[in-house]
Amino acid sequence: MARTTISRRDLTEHDVQIDIIFCGICHSDLHTVRNEWKEFMPTVYPCVPGHEIAGRVTKVGSAVTQYKVGDIAAVGCLVDSDHTCEHCREGLEQFCPNGIYTYNSPDKHQGGVTFGGYSESIVVDERFVLRVPSNLDLAAAAPLLCAGITTYSPLRRAGVTKGKKVGVVGLGGLGHMGVKLADALGAHVVVFSTSPDKKEDALRLGADEVVISRNADEMAKHAGSFDFILDTVSAQHDINAYLNLLARDGKLTLVGAPPEPLGVAAFALIMGNRSLSGSSIGGIRETQEMLDFCGEHNITSDVEVIPIQKVNEAYERLLKSEVKYRFTIDMASLKSE
Ligand code: NAP
Ligand code: ZN
Repeated sequence: MARTTISRRDLTEHDVQIDIIFCGICHSDLHTVRNEWKEFMPTVYPCVPGHEIAGRVTKVGSAVTQYKVGDIAAVGCLVDSDHTCEHCREGLEQFCPNGIYTYNSPDKHQGGVTFGGYSESIVVDERFVLRVPSNLDLAAAAPLLCAGITTYSPLRRAGVTKGKKVGVVGLGGLGHMGVKLADALGAHVVVFSTSPDKKEDALRLGADEVVISRNADEMAKHAGSFDFILDTVSAQHDINAYLNLLARDGKLTLVGAPPEPLGVAAFALIMGNRSLSGSSIGGIRETQEMLDFCGEHNITSDVEVIPIQKVNEAYERLLKSEVKYRFTIDMASLKSE
């Protein structure tokens, strides 16, 4: 990645302009920058990633009612949708056929594609702007805009509460948020990690147990016991090993998005009426609900704040599962270049 200059549109009456203070680094940014999802959503270059955006409102359009200059505001993975389709009507804008992602989506205002948060400022329709509870540290709250909602939504949909045994596979950006949120919902949380050095952190973050997934004996102890497993792994892995840990009627939801297909053994599902599903980020209404939940429970991400000059290095560390547990770019570093 290298520095470039982009333009932002002039504000329409419903737009809010935000000076970006922090932007989290999601593994989806890395998949996109490297065009790893070329079969599903090919990358258009130049690409400006970043969909965990937190900043301050610097300008508002004439019809904006919810935000004023000076407000702290945030933007996640979505910046537009048609507001009329069945999905939008249910608050599930992420499935709108005319939905627009924060980056690498057609930009109806300026042509080309949308540019994300690794930038000084952004202009967004106020309906896609979110509020960060004032008690949360802004650098640590930025990752809630993707890692937070992407884990909160499936946990809620699965009815995770006290008394449920929940597994979280992969302790990275999404995974560590999944642990904190499942713990706050009262579940018994088990982390599955390939990194033995993350064990103590996992317990500190809210896990009740940690399993090093390369250890077959440790895995076998949990066979047939989980109500729900959230799989956040970004690369190829053996999903059957986790399906076999589900209890009868248990469910595994994939949020991790490895580019290659995962091989599913039919018997891992059949034996126990188990199910396998996926989950995509979350709609705007639920994203605000998640932010408010995090405000009430004082939940943020564990972040390593970096200057933009370290972004390439951060990507290398992300690939080695070395992030603890989310990089957040201090965007002042971009302005100071
Ligand atoms: P991340 O911070 O890099 O975390 C991924 C974790 O997966 C790693 O920390 C590692 O945890 C584990 N892992 C990595 N490679 C592995 C391998 N080869 N085998 C087993 N485990 C491995 O990434 P992230 O930002 O959390 O994103 C995770 C995935 O979710 C990405 O594919 C991303 O694109 C996707 N995503 C999906 C959505 C959605 O809407 N569904 C939204 C955002 C992101 P351990 O060290 O603990 O093993
Ligand atoms: Zn993301």
